[in-house]
Amino acid sequence: MARSVQTHRLAVTAGLALLAAACAPAAPPASAGDGPPNIVIITADDLGYGDLGSYGHPNIRTPHLDRMAEEGLRWTSFYAQAPVCSPSRAALLTGRVHLRSGMFGRRTAVFFPDSRAGLPAEEITLAEALGDLDYATGIIGKWHLGHLPEYLPTRHGFDYWFGIPYSNDMDWNLPDGLENRTAYFEPEIDYWHVPLMRNEAELERPADQTILTRRSTEEAVAFIEDHRDEPFFLYMPHSMPHMPLFVSDQFRGRSTAGIYGDVIEEIDWSVGQVIAALERAGLSENTLVVFTSDNGPWLSYRTHAGTSGLLRDGKGTTFEGGMRVPGLFWWPGTLEPGVTQEIGSAMDLFTTVIALVGGSVPADRPIDGVDLSPVLFGTGPGPRETMAYYRMGELYAFRRGRYKVHFVTEGRYGLPPPRTDHDPPLLYDLDEDPAERYDLAAERPEALAVVVAAAERHRADMTMGEPLFDSRGEQ
Ligand code: MG
Repeated sequence: MARSVQTHRLAVTAGLALLAAACAPAAPPASAGDGPPNIVIITADDLGYGDLGSYGHPNIRTPHLDRMAEEGLRWTSFYAQAPVCSPSRAALLTGRVHLRSGMFGRRTAVFFPDSRAGLPAEEITLAEALGDLDYATGIIGKWHLGHLPEYLPTRHGFDYWFGIPYSNDMDWNLPDGLENRTAYFEPEIDYWHVPLMRNEAELERPADQTILTRRSTEEAVAFIEDHRDEPFFLYMPHSMPHMPLFVSDQFRGRSTAGIYGDVIEEIDWSVGQVIAALERAGLSENTLVVFTSDNGPWLSYRTHAGTSGLLRDGKGTTFEGGMRVPGLFWWPGTLEPGVTQEIGSAMDLFTTVIALVGGSVPADRPIDGVDLSPVLFGTGPGPRETMAYYRMGELYAFRRGRYKVHFVTEGRYGLPPPRTDHDPPLLYDLDEDPAERYDLAAERPEALAVVVAAAERHRADMTMGEPLFDSRGEQ
């Protein structure tokens, strides 16, 4: 094993050198460290654009994430590829718009405990791509791409999994007469019969959610220590701050922002522990760490939800607050500290990471993720010009450059506005008006036409699988 890793490291190092010679703009600097870089992708669940100190929150304290922002590259136009959990995760792991893999529904927005489907076996995940390059691969956290055995992370390229199969508010086991909303605001662990898994075995059920962030952190630190001598990919999708909120005793009541603030401060602590583990192992200069969120804040839960800052609306919607999220890239000694306004998607991590390690993306299928290396290394303009905003498999909005059009607008979870189809589409200038307040369609018809034409090209190119989220219950 050690020998093949060594061989592989030489091959990848050679690959990086060739890459540097062949296409300088996409290659990392020569000081990237020994051998292929480790990759750590940390996602929070339903964390909003405005929830971190480095993104303007006035009182939630996030010193470790703020350090990543100061020492790394902070993105102001970084997107989750979808406004809810399952499709967002599918796009991140496959580098493809989730419609292509059937990771959407016409009636159902995400996977549920009675779902019969999961991420199809034919999809190639980032874990599989990196596993083929002899990376050790681990997922510590929430999967949400199918809970049946054939769809688990261990069947999709991950050597190791510790976490929960779907959202922390699924598998209802509420006492008779208890209102759902009351349960969400005053949660007890056994209200949700969510299993905690290690690989393919159930560790406990229901999972003790109060210590889930802490245990996940211990697992992540152990994973780093266990694999310090070989290249590794650690994917850490936290199950918090998705409602219902749980936090350990050490963080309960610690923030000035209520339990939501407590939960975010515990996640921030966790990020600090992961970074400290990398530093202790001498790996921080050969590891790319990315932090982002799977979608915007779940606003119907008021103070138990986060904030999208100045952006409009939140989770479930195709306004900016539903999908634009924090994006922090940290790799000391390789990435210059800075802030970028270029557009990036979590879906691009697939292509970017594979390029960074000297691999090649699958050539037998459409890959929508682009290589963000020119932005990371300051070698060229951002390669992503557009962003497609889907809801339930329908293209609601489309961004090209500074302009965004809305074909359909709709609130979510009982919040306004009701579904409205727009003809002509609404047009917002996201540079001048990131809060999407002023429709410019009548004033700037040329800009409208350009974005609509780009959206039509995207639509024509989009091959869609069967909507697999709709496959539920007894078959
Ligand atoms: Mg989510």
